[in-house]
Amino acid sequence: MAKKKFSNSLNSQMLRMTLIPLTLMAIIIISVSVSGLYQLVANKTKEELIRDAQLAQYVLKEVYVGDYWAEDADDDGIPEMYKGEQRINGEDTMVDDLAKMLEIDISVFYDDVRLITTLKDSDGNRAIGTSASVIVKKEVLEEGASKFYSNVLVYDRKSYAYYMPLFSETGDINGMIAVSRSQESVKQELLQYIFPICVTCGLTAFLMGYIMIYFNRKLAGRIRKMDKYMNTLADGNFDVDMPRELMLEDDEIKHLANDGKRMAKAIQTLVEFDALTGLNNRRYADKKLEEIRVRSVESGIRYCVCISDIDFFKKVNDTFGHEMGDYVLRKVAGKLKAGMVGKGIAARWGGEEFLLIFENRELDIARRELEIIMDEVRTIWVPDSDRQITMSFGLTALEPGETVDEALSRADGNLYEAKEGGRDQIVCK
Ligand code: GH3
Ligand code: MG
Ligand code: MG
Repeated sequence: MAKKKFSNSLNSQMLRMTLIPLTLMAIIIISVSVSGLYQLVANKTKEELIRDAQLAQYVLKEVYVGDYWAEDADDDGIPEMYKGEQRINGEDTMVDDLAKMLEIDISVFYDDVRLITTLKDSDGNRAIGTSASVIVKKEVLEEGASKFYSNVLVYDRKSYAYYMPLFSETGDINGMIAVSRSQESVKQELLQYIFPICVTCGLTAFLMGYIMIYFNRKLAGRIRKMDKYMNTLADGNFDVDMPRELMLEDDEIKHLANDGKRMAKAIQTLVEFDALTGLNNRRYADKKLEEIRVRSVESGIRYCVCISDIDFFKKVNDTFGHEMGDYVLRKVAGKLKAGMVGKGIAARWGGEEFLLIFENRELDIARRELEIIMDEVRTIWVPDSDRQITMSFGLTALEPGETVDEALSRADGNLYEAKEGGRDQIVCK
């Protein structure tokens, strides 16, 4: 049987059942992890920037004594910045080292002008002389509050930044110190954490998917086997064994297959057996005759057929009633069935006629066996009466190359002769 194509096969349904929840799960886990991580990294960045700003401010305060002040003595447009007597811009070694160590950018503003900074443009020029953004000026410089920004432009780069005002010894605001990290560098750090999570999640989903698909395929395979088995039964092939795969687990599939087998048995009984006598019926006999004929052609085995008929059966019905007629039919059937054990098949051919098939036998042997059966039938009597039951038999052998119908019509002719010849006898030709 060719493998059936389904528009929505179990395999593809199970594949969807597996892949959709797994993909959703992976997406949810990754999204939750990423947003959690983002928060974590953002908080960590904020804490680090605050700590670093305090550290930088502390270093400036401890290393150089005095207030911040600035003047553009050389008139180059960029003021020189001092703390006390010490010029602190122009030579950025200390700030550079600190920034490098802390992996941040540091700027020191005099008023709102950046005079010390580690920020550089793409040519390596420091962003000296640039000013802080309006919001920073207002909140830090004017209001004197230290402030964290998670999305502020620092020298044209979107950044996380912490600004602290710088106070003179008299408490005036001289400028600001700012530490910052570009959002890009925070994103890079975030990616370092996200990557292993994505890989682990992906691998776990793949492994789970593989295991689920393996078991789903096994299940679908058993259901396909079940379908094939049911098909065989539906084709009327009742002798087929239940496939081993269906019996492996004590589950619904096995029970379904057992139900199918039982249903097939029930149908087989209806289709192949005669309800009154329990013998095979004519439909089955016809099928069997053809099977045997094919086999005999292939292997050269001889077989004989016999049509038999109860003598004066109508009288049994008329005299003792239909019920008694049925009883006699069952008795006769029992004798024929028992007599044919190991020889072939007895079937109810119709009404009070029976067909006997002698397999693998020459005519003379079949005749001798038939005589024994005939004697057995003679032992049947209608209960509490003097009516003995007898039968007439038309026996013949199937000739090579002959059709079943030709042999049957010869057997029928023989039966007719047996009736004409006085009944209770075998005519064999
Ligand atoms: P013969 O010796 O020539 O065969 O005579 P006969 O009376 O046996 O033959 P006939 O064909 O006249 O009668 C057969 C009878 O069998 C008629 C029918 O009512 C009866 N019969 C057929 N099937 C059944 C059945 O299932 N049950 C009963 N009780 N009678 C049946
Ligand atoms: Mg008859
Ligand atoms: Mg009869």
